[in-house]
Amino acid sequence: MSEEITFKDLGLSPEVMEALDKMGVTRPTTVQQKAIPLMMDNMSVIAKAPTGTGKTFAFGIPIIEYLNLNSKYVQALILSPTRELALQITAELKGLGKYIEGFKVAPLIGGQSMRIQEEKLAKNPQIIVATPGRLLDMVSRRLCDISQIYTLVLDEADEMLKMGFIKDIKRIIALTPEDRQTALFSATMPREIQDITWEFMTGAAEIDVMPKAEDHPNIDQYIVSCPEKDKLCAVTKIMKKENLHKVIVFCNTKNEASRVCEKLSRQGLKAEALHGDIGQGARNRVMDDYRSSKFDVLVATDVVARGIDVDDVEGIFNYNIPKENELYLHRIGRTARAGKSGKAFSLVAYLDRQRMDEIIRYTKVDPKPYEMDSGEA
Ligand code: ADP
Ligand code: MG
Repeated sequence: MSEEITFKDLGLSPEVMEALDKMGVTRPTTVQQKAIPLMMDNMSVIAKAPTGTGKTFAFGIPIIEYLNLNSKYVQALILSPTRELALQITAELKGLGKYIEGFKVAPLIGGQSMRIQEEKLAKNPQIIVATPGRLLDMVSRRLCDISQIYTLVLDEADEMLKMGFIKDIKRIIALTPEDRQTALFSATMPREIQDITWEFMTGAAEIDVMPKAEDHPNIDQYIVSCPEKDKLCAVTKIMKKENLHKVIVFCNTKNEASRVCEKLSRQGLKAEALHGDIGQGARNRVMDDYRSSKFDVLVATDVVARGIDVDDVEGIFNYNIPKENELYLHRIGRTARAGKSGKAFSLVAYLDRQRMDEIIRYTKVDPKPYEMDSGEA
């Protein structure tokens, strides 16, 4: 096996090193170790890596290191499936470029007024983070020029596929220079995504990062053995015992999420549900409120939780054990972000045991049994 690569080995600028240091980011994750040297070498990359393993910095760092701050052109375009994610990527890149004078990144997303976005573009950002529909709209109105970009990133390509953006993406690719660097990131590689890589990314380097426990180093994981009917009680008890305030409770279905949220609210907790049946506007509001800690317990399904990044989540509960092994890592990756530590509790009833054992075997995680106080009922 090759040696672990450090940020120092990657030859980054002092400004970026300082930004990473201030964010408490010390050790590059696997996808960062693999993608950063390739992208710094102007290679195109196709990277398959689980959610929560640091893909934003994997493409963000090389892009930022190569910006020409004197040019008025947009040099990098990052496409993202959702507005939330676009805003989140923008924020992470702003953090990375904090010490670089003249560095500008702007989001172009649906739901924001054209005028505000025109104003942002007038400031000549070097990087644009956009949802595909809005970007095409701006380009066709000649408000945005992507003909000179150097790097194109397709982030969460599988999500963009699910949301029906493939045609838009192909149109966008056609508007960019042929000799661009393309970086495609995806948690899965369905056929349609492979088609895109064959059509537009010949010669790209491929990176395949298996879900690994060490990419989630600061999470204490526990198994809480309890009957299905006691799961709710277990959540409230553990929150109290561990002094957890901001937590996410994961459920496998929308119905279960609504139910659990309702029951937790009745127990006096400030809880809100987030799942696929909730409209975009309401979702944004819930996420904003959660980020600003207006409530404590987010009850979510996997669909909406992907890519969502809230910095100070203290604990994760697997109320239901996820149906897919990788989802376990996606879920627990919602805590212990940006160098902080976190805890993850899997509530395992009799019928969940087999599933949990499979997850442990496949992901090589090592959750410890959790001892609940026996005293009070
Ligand atoms: P992905 O895109 O793979 O889902 P993100 O890029 O959103 O993952 O990163 C998840 C979180 O991990 C973010 O909060 C980010 O700041 C943090 N992070 C990224 N790289 C590192 C690292 N090398 N060390 C510690 N935290 C990191
Ligand atoms: Mg991401």
